[in-house]
Amino acid sequence: MATTKKRELDLKDFPPGTVTEYTTLVCLACIFDIFTKQLGLAPRTAFSEIKRHTPTIEELTSRQAMRPYFDTEDKHPHCPYCGSAKRWLTHFDTYCIEGGKTTDAARRTLIKKLPTSGDQFVIVEKKSDSRAVFFEWLDTLGLNADLNDEAWPIEATRKYLERREPKTNWDEPFNELRAVRRSSRLTEGWERDGTRLFLAPNLYSEAILIQYLVSRSHAHGGMTLEGRLTLMELIRRLRYSGYLDQIGIAERDPGEVFEKLIDHLAAKHEWYRIPTSRDSERVSAAAKKSTKKAAKKSSKKSPKSRKNKVSLPEPDEVVTEPVKLHYLVDRRDFLEKVKSVYASYA
Ligand SMILES: [Zn+2]
Repeated sequence: MATTKKRELDLKDFPPGTVTEYTTLVCLACIFDIFTKQLGLAPRTAFSEIKRHTPTIEELTSRQAMRPYFDTEDKHPHCPYCGSAKRWLTHFDTYCIEGGKTTDAARRTLIKKLPTSGDQFVIVEKKSDSRAVFFEWLDTLGLNADLNDEAWPIEATRKYLERREPKTNWDEPFNELRAVRRSSRLTEGWERDGTRLFLAPNLYSEAILIQYLVSRSHAHGGMTLEGRLTLMELIRRLRYSGYLDQIGIAERDPGEVFEKLIDHLAAKHEWYRIPTSRDSERVSAAAKKSTKKAAKKSSKKSPKSRKNKVSLPEPDEVVTEPVKLHYLVDRRDFLEKVKSVYASYA
């Protein structure tokens, strides 16, 4: 039967982590109720209006759905608002694709293949930035993580590396992997040795940082490859490993360091463009020069120089990149269900 056919989109040409999938259930009984009772439409008009209906992107991607939308893990769901059973329930699948060099060609190919008739798919573009994308990625990682599973720091490491190096096929390095360790030999990249994966110190540090960010709200401190860490312990490790120096964080206050760490990761949405240790040597050499300049500027912090401030770039300005998000809303199941519900109603 057409309605039970599995027809998920083929997303294999997209690097892992660049497409986020959302499913929102919707109760047609509730929608019908809203259109007839609240908006006062005749049933026939209501159905033709409902057919044209597409929830907003906020409604489709919100973590807390509102009537007539809902989320459930239940295999035999009922509407939480009116109790309606399966035949009244349908869903929208929404795919959020991050625009960028690694996804643009694949996205165009995918969109070309989609059926165009009857608004089976709706495509919405939205402007966002690398910071919002980063937090959404973290959020998704957290929602899909089983933090009680011992293996999850390894899984989170994989998700991080997939995003960091989208061109690498990570199946092999992670196949039957038992442990991830900091390499004392490598200055960049990674190597597999037996059942262990060794990461260059900067990759290892960032993997720990990601694990901390994902798990910190779930427990006291965050769960990482190095065990449970408080923020102080995390920062101490990142400092001793040389990571903070490497990315130019000189602050001592844990809160400030933490902010800077997030700024660093959130500055570029394509992480393979985040400076590696080799690049950051160049960057920090350049930074030293500009620090001298900045020192000169800040040495005369008189009200007079503050007046001129408008034309000067903020030294601490956080750079975020604009990112275009492309949402594909799959309305196929919705259209079919509306039709069958109306047929049984009329
Ligand atoms: Zn309902």
